[in-house]
Amino acid sequence: MQTKKKDIRALTKEQLRDFFVSEGDQAFRGNQVYEWLWQKSAHSFEGMTNISKETRDMLEANFVINHIKVDQMQRSNDGTIKNAVRLHDDLIVESVLIPTKTRTTACVSSQVGCSLDCLFCATARLKRMRNLNPDEIYDQVVAIDNESRLYFDRPLSNIVFMGMGEPLMNYNNVLKAIDKITSPEGLGMSPKRITVSTSGVPKMIKKMADDEVRFKLAVSLHSAIDEIRTSIMPFNATFTLADLREALEYWYAKTQSRITYEYVVWQGINDTQTDVDALVEFCRFAPSKVNLIEYNPIDDGEFRQASPKALDMYVTTLERNGIIVTVRRSRGKDIDAACGQLANKK
Ligand code: SAH
Repeated sequence: MQTKKKDIRALTKEQLRDFFVSEGDQAFRGNQVYEWLWQKSAHSFEGMTNISKETRDMLEANFVINHIKVDQMQRSNDGTIKNAVRLHDDLIVESVLIPTKTRTTACVSSQVGCSLDCLFCATARLKRMRNLNPDEIYDQVVAIDNESRLYFDRPLSNIVFMGMGEPLMNYNNVLKAIDKITSPEGLGMSPKRITVSTSGVPKMIKKMADDEVRFKLAVSLHSAIDEIRTSIMPFNATFTLADLREALEYWYAKTQSRITYEYVVWQGINDTQTDVDALVEFCRFAPSKVNLIEYNPIDDGEFRQASPKALDMYVTTLERNGIIVTVRRSRGKDIDAACGQLANKK
């Protein structure tokens, strides 16, 4: 009986080098194959033209190369492209290409489904099925880079981990994927162009600080008042704002990297002066900026975008207190590609 073939992209470069040595070959063969797997995104051993037929057959007998398949592509009339990404076990996640005049941003998923329970988020309605592997995250980025070159004639410029899942609940794999994305042997992108967005897992934010990561951090805050935040993001009962704050102070002390707070203002939930004042207080302990994001309705009306007047109050109060604030229009709404709308509808 044949033993089950191993996933070759689960190996580090060192492990691949060691494998070739153990086969009586040279370590540098590992580098060659590694380059095919990552930099050149090879889908088969057959295409590895600088590797002998004998070696390719040997690899074929021992390993598989898993890769994602972009199943379905929808283009929005604002240029946004949504990919349905089929994984090797037929599960599906989504990723989005968001073009602006000067940039192309990839919004990628980190998990199939999500274990958190934000009431306003479509992904939260799917239970968490599994974590994505590093190669599955990396491949979403490569696919969007290719689409960006094809449709916009320029490479991908930025990456946000704002697709499906909670990246800090799949921290090791997200970190490995980012290593590959930033490595010259992968895509060679600057970590400063990558933002990891979290609902705020204090222990993991501290771990990121200890690991001295160089990408940017965004936190989905939505309220700086515990009672309100818990009512819309129930896990806040466990990971309270005090714990979050302590972790963010630790993050800033270690990395000197400014934090972005993502914030949706909803009618009757967080649209009063008291809510803004609490946010201003929360912004004081570490350099930060606020992104006010437009709400994308995912149901029939429990959550509703606050009035322009309430938004104005947020902007004016934040600015008066010297806090940078941007108001984000939503993109790709007509194809369900907007923030928080990513969920497999099949
Ligand atoms: N789990 C991570 C990343 C995925 S969500 C996080 O929570 O940050 C990406 C962003 O979309 C978060 O800021 C989230 O709060 C926001 N979001 C979720 N559902 C939304 C919706 N229906 N409308 C607007 N933003 C939403």
